[in-house]
Amino acid sequence: MFGGTFDPLHLGHLAIALEVRHQLELDRMLLVVANDPWQKTVFNSVTPASIRFEMVEAAVAAANESIGSTVLEASDHEIRRGGETYTADTLATLATETDGAELFVVVGSDIAASLDTWERPDEVRELATTVVAERGGSAGGRPPEGWDHVVVAVPALEISSTDIRNRFRNGRPTEALVPHRVVEYVRSHGLYGSTR
Ligand code: ATP
Repeated sequence: MFGGTFDPLHLGHLAIALEVRHQLELDRMLLVVANDPWQKTVFNSVTPASIRFEMVEAAVAAANESIGSTVLEASDHEIRRGGETYTADTLATLATETDGAELFVVVGSDIAASLDTWERPDEVRELATTVVAERGGSAGGRPPEGWDHVVVAVPALEISSTDIRNRFRNGRPTEALVPHRVVEYVRSHGLYGSTR
């Protein structure tokens, strides 16, 4: 699973999902949209989860279409559960639903060092192997001691959702940074202060 706020999803996210799935030869790759990313919402509000999910769904459908098979899946699992989003809960459900499949949790190297601040980190550690997506292969953050993890080099794309939101707000270009269907969705719904 690759969890995120995806407010909005950008090409950095897609690059990670596709690269990790390919390099680790995973059977499935779920992009799991956080319902309430409490470590963020304590400081800032985020776009309603159903809207963030629709954007991920649209981008995932387009990626699968162009690849010609279902390599990515958009998951609204955490939205249906509701409340604050804890990866430990998501993994527990996935473990049951997949009948004991081997689970992986993908995180960017920028947040790897903070894994102990997650809710019930011991459960996350026990239920899954952590995958650290390393931008451009340059040494970044690593999980704290005791976290079983693998490092996967992903293309360095210096893109963040924060910058994308600002770009839409200020009318700067987003087309080379965000999947086409997400750009369309943002504009047609007037998200982030964008204009058509
Ligand atoms: P924001 O700018 O709003 O904080 P974000 O771009 O970091 O958002 P999130 O949805 O919070 O996006 O991130 C989900 C996951 O994707 C995190 O594990 C984060 O480390 C990783 N990530 C985000 N952008 C990139 C990128 N350009 N390259 C590699 N990893 C990324």
